[in-house]
Amino acid sequence: MRALVRVVSWVAGLCLLGALLLFALRQYNIVEPARELLLNASGVSLSPRVDPCLQNDSAGAIVASIDYTDAHALNTLFDQVDIWHVEPEQQSAVALVSPAQQQWLTQEGFPFSQNTELTDALPDPCAFQALADSRSIPGYACYRTVDATHADLASLAEQHPNLAQLTDIGNSWYKIRSFGLAGSDIQALVLTNTQATDIEKGELVVIAAQHPRELSTTEIATLFAELLLSQYGADPDLTWLLDYNRIHIIPLANPDGRTWVEKGHLWRKNTNSTYGCDFPKHGVDLNRNGSFLWNHCNGCSSSDVCSNFYRGDEPASEPETQAIEAYLRDVFADQRGEGYNDPAPEDTNGVFISLHSYGRLLFYPWEHSATPAPNRDELRRLGRKLGYFPDYKVCNPELCMYRFDGSTTDFAYGTLGVAAFTYELGTAFFQTCPYFESYIADQILDSLVYAAKTARRPYQLPAGPDVTAASADPPRLLPGKEVSLTATADDTRSAGTGSDTEPAQPISAARFSVGAPSWIAATFETLQPLDGEYDSSVELLTGSLETTGWQPGAYTIFLEAQDADGNWGPPTAVSIEVVALPTERAPPQFKQYLPRVWR
Ligand SMILES: [Zn+2]
Repeated sequence: MRALVRVVSWVAGLCLLGALLLFALRQYNIVEPARELLLNASGVSLSPRVDPCLQNDSAGAIVASIDYTDAHALNTLFDQVDIWHVEPEQQSAVALVSPAQQQWLTQEGFPFSQNTELTDALPDPCAFQALADSRSIPGYACYRTVDATHADLASLAEQHPNLAQLTDIGNSWYKIRSFGLAGSDIQALVLTNTQATDIEKGELVVIAAQHPRELSTTEIATLFAELLLSQYGADPDLTWLLDYNRIHIIPLANPDGRTWVEKGHLWRKNTNSTYGCDFPKHGVDLNRNGSFLWNHCNGCSSSDVCSNFYRGDEPASEPETQAIEAYLRDVFADQRGEGYNDPAPEDTNGVFISLHSYGRLLFYPWEHSATPAPNRDELRRLGRKLGYFPDYKVCNPELCMYRFDGSTTDFAYGTLGVAAFTYELGTAFFQTCPYFESYIADQILDSLVYAAKTARRPYQLPAGPDVTAASADPPRLLPGKEVSLTATADDTRSAGTGSDTEPAQPISAARFSVGAPSWIAATFETLQPLDGEYDSSVELLTGSLETTGWQPGAYTIFLEAQDADGNWGPPTAVSIEVVALPTERAPPQFKQYLPRVWR
C-alpha cells in the first residue's frame, strides 16, 4: 500500500512538472526560438539573417539585354550573370545584372541595354512582406502558395478517393536537414480510375517548379489535376483519360525554394547550403543535377557554387533530384537500350513533361546536344502536336535557346526511353495574372490533355489525325432510336511559328467503337466523309448508330481517324444516355381485406 502511494505521488508530480514546463515554454515563447536554434545549428536558415528589405537580391540590379558574339562569349556570360533567356538567332541574352556586373560587362566589351518592362517587374521582398496573405503569393492572386497547393492536393485526394491518391515521394533538403522541423515532402497526386484494372494504362508524369521562381508552372500543374477531377463523369473526352491512363502530377518539385519565392526572392536552385556561398546564392540547380550525362558538355552547367546553374558535386546529389528520378524509374518501364544511339521502340508507353518558364518554347531531347536523339522524329512530332495549342516554338534547345546537361527531361528520355519534353511557359518568371489567365492557362491545359491522350503510345498516336468537334445527337434517347454522329478529322494541327511544319496527309478512314477505345474494343463501325470522298487532310465526318436492344445506361463512343500513311490518331470520346422505356404499368395491388377472424 505504501509503495502504491509512492508511485501515485511520483506520477502526479511528474505530470505537474510537465504541465508547468509546457506553460513556461508557451508563456515565455521558447518553442519558436528553440526550433530556430536547432534549425540554425543544422544549417537551415528559414529567414534571412538581416531585414528582408535589405536582403533584396535584385536591389539596384537591372534586367538587361546583352549582345554576345559566339558560344564562348555566351559561356563567359553564364559564368558571370544570372541568365534568364537567350535568343541565339539575335545573339542576345536577357540577364539580371547588378551594378558591379554592369561595370564588368562594360569592361569586357559586352554591349547591353536595360529591358525596362522586366526591370520594373522585379520582385521587391519588402512589398512581399507587407502583402503576405495565406493562400496566394503576395501580389499574384492567381498563384497558390506552397501551403495552399499542398492543402488543395490533399483535399482533391480526399474528395475523389477512387480517382486520386496523394503520394509522398521524398523529402526536400530542409526537411532532411532539420529532422522534419522545416521543409516539406515532395508530393505526387496520382490520377486514375482505380476501379479500371487489368488494362495497360498510359503513364503521364508532369512536374513543375524545379526552378521555383518560374511562378506559373505550379499553378498549371494544379489546375490540370483540378480540371481532370472536376470533369470526370461530366466531359466524356476527359473522363476516358483517367479510365485508361495514370496521370502523375508533381506541382512542387522544389518546395523549399518556392518558400523563398513567396518572400520575393528570385530563387532558382534548391536550398542546400553545405556547398558554400552566402544567402541567397547557395543551392544546386536541380535541372542540372540529373544523373543522365551529368556534367557532360562544356558550358552546359556550372561548377561555381554561387552560380544559378551550379550542378552539385556529383550526379543526383540532391534529395529533390533523387526523389524525382526514383519516382520516374518506378512509374516508367526502362524502354531504351543502354547505347547512346539506341532508339526506344515504337510502342513505348509514357510521356514526361517538365514545366518551366519562360520563352514560349517547347524542347524535345536531347537537351545537352543538337545531335538528333535516336527517337528525334517521333519526339519532335509529338512536341509539335503539344506546341500547337499554345502556338509555341518547338525545338532542340541548343538550336533555339542554349544547351544544358543533367536535365530531368534528358534523364526521362535517355534513361527510360519515354517521350520527354520541357515547356518554357509565357514571357516572364513572375508572370502577371492577366497574362497567365489569357495566354497560358487554357492553352497549356489543352496541350497537357493532348499529352494524356497520347501517353500510351507517344511515338505512334501523334502521327495520326485528331478528331475534333465530335457530337452525338440526340445525347439522350430511348433504346432502338438512331444516334447521328458528326466530327472533324484533322491531320494539320501542329505547331507553326518557327517550328517547321509537320507534314499533313489526307484523311483515309474514320471509325468508332462503343464502350472502349479501339485497342480494346472488339468491333468498329465506320464513319463517312460528309462530302462523299476522303481526299483532304481535314474532313467532316458523319455516321449513325443503332441502339436496338441496348440496356439503359450511359455509353461512351470513341471516334478516331486514319491518315493516308496508315496512322490512326488518338480517339475523341462523346457519350449518349439510353433511358429506360416506360414499362407497362401492372394493375395496382390492393391488400386483400380479410375478416379479422381469418388473420
Ligand atoms: Zn526553369
